[in-house]
Amino acid sequence: MKLSFYGTRGSTPTPGPATIKYGGNTACTMISQGDEFVILDSGTGIRVLGDELLNDKRPVNILLTHHHWDHIQGFPFFAPIYQLNREINIYVPKTEPRDDNAILAQMDKSYFPVNYRQLPSKITLKSIQKTCFDVAGFSIKCLPINHPNEGLAFVVSRDQKHIAYVTDNELFPELHQTTDYELWLAVLENIDVLIHDGQYFDFELHKKRDWGHSSVEQVLVLAEQCKAKKTFIYSHAPERTDDDLDEYFQRLIKIMPSINFDFAKEGLQFDLSDLKEF
Ligand SMILES: [Zn+2]
Repeated sequence: MKLSFYGTRGSTPTPGPATIKYGGNTACTMISQGDEFVILDSGTGIRVLGDELLNDKRPVNILLTHHHWDHIQGFPFFAPIYQLNREINIYVPKTEPRDDNAILAQMDKSYFPVNYRQLPSKITLKSIQKTCFDVAGFSIKCLPINHPNEGLAFVVSRDQKHIAYVTDNELFPELHQTTDYELWLAVLENIDVLIHDGQYFDFELHKKRDWGHSSVEQVLVLAEQCKAKKTFIYSHAPERTDDDLDEYFQRLIKIMPSINFDFAKEGLQFDLSDLKEF
């Protein structure tokens, strides 16, 4: 399995000279093996991915973690939706309130010049009903995230390799907890790759309780406790510059040298066959 980051930013796109290294596009990651692939989230990063998919006819499968705008806002600019009869399946999580049509509704009324009902592709919304299901040769396991309006995290597995995509998740919420820490530890035990929300640093957490995100430091402790072989911190805060992330990386790697981690970087590809014991 291979993973490719197309957008790693949380909340809102952040173009500009201070975010060139880690990228400014919002959440979008592809997991692939051979010719088969699944796309996780449809933030602005999906635009570039869409352009890469224009010359083939493979069905497109998108798994949405939730409907916050930074996870769906790239969809109107995802070129395959304008291809005649292109098969596009969108796996939609249960949210609060329930709103299965949210990704399409942004192409309705006065929000966008093209109405989703006019799209020539074959778009199917598939409401996620089960905790485990298969897509394009991958096994998907779902777990509720601790996040306002709810949503899902996914563990994507194939050939005994496992990638966890856990974004927009608060590991220790004060109010609305849907998945407790012990369950995260159990599900993520010995995971090959952990992609986890680390929007904040510890010193910011007291101002951000119940906003639905974790700190980088909390994720590194989780990574250590669940023995993740590789961890990518994801969903960087919009105000976070490349220099901030580089500085923190240097500081944290000294404190926790046994953790194999990186801040997720737009454009980065990671092949699980390259994974070595750290
Ligand atoms: Zn969110």
